[in-house]
Amino acid sequence: MTELRGVRAQRDALDSREISAVELCELHLNEIRRKDPLLNSFITIDEEGALQAAKSADQRLGRQDRVQEVTGIPIAHKDVFYMRDTLTTCASGMLQEFKPLHDATIVARLADAGAVCLGKTNMDEFAMGSSNRTSFFGAVRNPWDLSRVPGGSSGGMAAAVAADLVPLASGSDTGGSIRQPAAFCGVSGLRPTYGRVSRHGMIPYAPSLDQAGPCARTVEDLGIMLVAMEGYDPKDSTTSDRAATDTRKSWGPRTLGVPAAFMQQMEEDLWSPFGKSIHAFRRQGYRVQRIELPHFDIAVAAYYLIATAEASTNLARYHGLRSGPRATEFNGVSHSHSQTHSEALGTEVKRRLLAGTYALSERNGGRLLVQAQKIRRLVTEDLLKAFKSVDLVVTPTTPTTAFELEESADSPVRMYSNDAFTVPSALAGLPALTVPCGFVGGLPAGVQLIAKHFHESELLSTGRDFQRETDWHLSVPQLPTA
Ligand code: GLN
Repeated sequence: MTELRGVRAQRDALDSREISAVELCELHLNEIRRKDPLLNSFITIDEEGALQAAKSADQRLGRQDRVQEVTGIPIAHKDVFYMRDTLTTCASGMLQEFKPLHDATIVARLADAGAVCLGKTNMDEFAMGSSNRTSFFGAVRNPWDLSRVPGGSSGGMAAAVAADLVPLASGSDTGGSIRQPAAFCGVSGLRPTYGRVSRHGMIPYAPSLDQAGPCARTVEDLGIMLVAMEGYDPKDSTTSDRAATDTRKSWGPRTLGVPAAFMQQMEEDLWSPFGKSIHAFRRQGYRVQRIELPHFDIAVAAYYLIATAEASTNLARYHGLRSGPRATEFNGVSHSHSQTHSEALGTEVKRRLLAGTYALSERNGGRLLVQAQKIRRLVTEDLLKAFKSVDLVVTPTTPTTAFELEESADSPVRMYSNDAFTVPSALAGLPALTVPCGFVGGLPAGVQLIAKHFHESELLSTGRDFQRETDWHLSVPQLPTA
């Protein structure tokens, strides 16, 4: 596998006929069989579908018919995305037998481009979480240390890429779910601008925040996956019709802004990799200056009000009347709904639905939510103001490295504080990238870059510069043999 790591190497091997798409697919399926019993990063492994897709990729390659960068490349989709006739559970008992009638737009686009989907990755139930412990299908383990979490909610995505089970994987990011697990597992991840990538067929958590994006070892590979996913979709009215991301443009050394406030919330151990990242940028001629984000510390509270309020309306549809499990003992329609929720949803999801329903309740007259929306506006304005003096904002991706599987499981508020660095850009709908920036006690750390709306090209250029100067993204975890 070593010589075939990443999309570039695999593309070259496919194009020169050193390997066929079917062989490449089998190689990865073997890796999954060998390593996934330790990681639990997949909910569904679709061998049959994968081999069929690989065969048709080989035919395309043979005829030189619409060959694109991802044609014949193995990928995996987070189980939040609809895949036709394929189990799509969102890691919930509520959807444990659900097979959609159509593909999510990104699933269809990647399949049309010839990518070979090997299966669906594990995640926190309904994408609510930062640990991947809340999955109905069990926790995912961090390939760098099997006693630790991979992060969440896209924990399966990040663990699978880090362990070389797939070179590319999709994820969804509402408040950090691509970036935080990517950082915990030592890989790269991108949350695109809100509206850059279609949400059609992505099971919603909080629609005003949800965004789909790519995960890969390198920034170059993120760009390759992004262009295959992005773009206007008539089935999602919030998508933009802007030109495709220019993944080759080099923007040169930028001016980076470091928000002083972030540093105070970060574990001391992480100062060193973050400081070294700043030096790596400086060595390449980047300029660095301090910026202020005055409302940073109230962003997480606002995020959890908005996200849970939206979730409580969204998840009301899973009442068991039309599909899925349904409570058998109840007293009237309303009681049947609440019983079904009580029985088929996990504790964290229930906690959030209750919090969201409370935020929306008449008793509060929407007061809490209005306050939260005001904070969202202030956080957005802080960031947009910063972009008047700097090109990009740079922060650590997470306040800590991957924690133990058992840690802070009983303290939701401590868990929520994990999202402190990823939530502000999500509230503002801004694109953000995480790249590996070192290790602390054998565990990966990530550095985050935030750009102006629709400036993914600038983010990718800066990320590539960083990965030319550093080699953290090339480190690979050694797993014991299963
Ligand atoms: N950890 C955050 C939450 O639990 C973010 C999740 C996400 O981005 N889907 O809400």
